[in-house]
Amino acid sequence: MKETAGVISLIEKALTPKAQSEIEEVGTVIGVGDGICKVYGLTNVVFGELVMFESGARGIVMDLDEDYVSIILLDHAEEVSEQEVVHRTGNSFRVPVGDALVGRVMSSSGEPLDALGEIVSNEQRPIERTAPGIIARTPVNEPLETGCLVIDALIPIGKGQRELLIGNRSTGKTTTALNTIINQKGKDVVCIYVSIGHKQSDTAKMIHLLQQYDALSYTIVIDASAKSTALEQFLSPYVGCTIAEYFMDKGQDVLIVYDDLSNHAIAYRELSLLLRRPPGREAYPGDIFYIHSRLLERAGKMNDQNGGGSMTALPIIQTQGDDISAYIATNLISITDGQVFFDTNMFNNGIRPAISIGLSVSRVGGAAQIKSMKKVAGQLKLELAQFEALSAFMQFGSELDATSQRAIDRGQRAVQLLKQDLHATYSQAEEIIFLFLLQENFFDRLDMTQINTFSRQFVSYLLEVYPQVYHAVAGPEGLSELIETSVRRAADEFILVFTKPSTPSQQGTGYSS
Ligand code: ATP
Ligand code: MG
Repeated sequence: MKETAGVISLIEKALTPKAQSEIEEVGTVIGVGDGICKVYGLTNVVFGELVMFESGARGIVMDLDEDYVSIILLDHAEEVSEQEVVHRTGNSFRVPVGDALVGRVMSSSGEPLDALGEIVSNEQRPIERTAPGIIARTPVNEPLETGCLVIDALIPIGKGQRELLIGNRSTGKTTTALNTIINQKGKDVVCIYVSIGHKQSDTAKMIHLLQQYDALSYTIVIDASAKSTALEQFLSPYVGCTIAEYFMDKGQDVLIVYDDLSNHAIAYRELSLLLRRPPGREAYPGDIFYIHSRLLERAGKMNDQNGGGSMTALPIIQTQGDDISAYIATNLISITDGQVFFDTNMFNNGIRPAISIGLSVSRVGGAAQIKSMKKVAGQLKLELAQFEALSAFMQFGSELDATSQRAIDRGQRAVQLLKQDLHATYSQAEEIIFLFLLQENFFDRLDMTQINTFSRQFVSYLLEVYPQVYHAVAGPEGLSELIETSVRRAADEFILVFTKPSTPSQQGTGYSS
């Protein structure tokens, strides 16, 4: 009798449905090569799930077939062999997030790449998250100061905006993005720099530059260099974005640079072709638009109920032969809120930063410009457009009528003023004063070569002699009548000192920039 009861309880136990968590699903590798392996037996595995191999390798499920699943290997790819057992984890790929990451250089799998030891964090987040809806957001209304005069004046970027930096190779895209990071010093903005598919030596130089300007202390660098696997390169922007979301959710402002998404698209194309997905235009897979749109949609400015944080994204795209109508370029132009176009000819002609005003646009940033900046920059765009149209006639010089000659003259002075040295960044007050001097025709009294020196020395003079005027320029009151008169008077004073022929014993004006 006792025996029968035992058998019944065993049968009952076998027949009761088990909870999903109790099932440890394992599969077997049936084929491996090129960093991809096919696994049989993982019937309930989901797309994007992290799986563990007996050998210690990790992989992510990227394709679900009827009989098998395709897994892309994240690390230790060479150790995986056929017949090896694969375990489900039930989780998607996660990365560590937290304040401890600030100032660190890490790989896309969260491993430290600097000499500062283990990254200690007690929170991990999955790298994919649905972008916040419109109800949770608020319009972009605060400027993100790039410190680059031409951008801040004419193509302004607001906190929460997505602005594409686009141009041929070696035209100053990375430099502009890094300068923007450098300019965030003391502004309470967490910066994230995602380096995708660059040479390790190049990334090392960028990190060194950030260190030099003391910018690494508020920056996180995600490095997926050309040496890392295609999967690591593909994952890196999502990893950066997830870390950025952590700070944004806490109500902080974040700036994230994706350098560059052309390499990201190439890495994804490589993965897709290895997975035998059908190639589409330029051999990219059909979902390449979604890959980038779902990443950039996660940037934005949250409303106060949702913490009031913001994520400003600066994706970079490299074009071939100035062709902005290539597939990935047009995709990103349509996803972002505007683009800054870097022109090779301008760069070669020494106009640096080589930003083409005609081809650049900021669709929302204007709303984020402060009052005084709007006042002094309003006229400039029109003048530069006029200058561009007239510059073809420049070679006829004296045959031009007086009005056109004057427009050309003003345009040349404006272009000269907009030139900026390699890592020079300007404060908002400096930028407003420069543009005010241009508007008030002060540069007409100077030689073309003196414009930049004069303007930089003048701001030092103003700060030293009339500090209250200097600080009021970018203040809440804006450029009031009184402030304008004071700046005008100070500039009149200074121009006399500046243009006074120096005696042999006098060296310069005594004011440094
Ligand atoms: P790539 O497409 O290869 O990544 P890039 O567009 O990011 O290139 P950068 O690496 O930023 O270009 O710059 C290319 C070169 O131009 C660098 O040597 C840099 O020092 C120089 N450069 C960039 N901006 C300026 C500037 N404002 N003044 C002087 N030199 C500059
Ligand atoms: Mg670059």
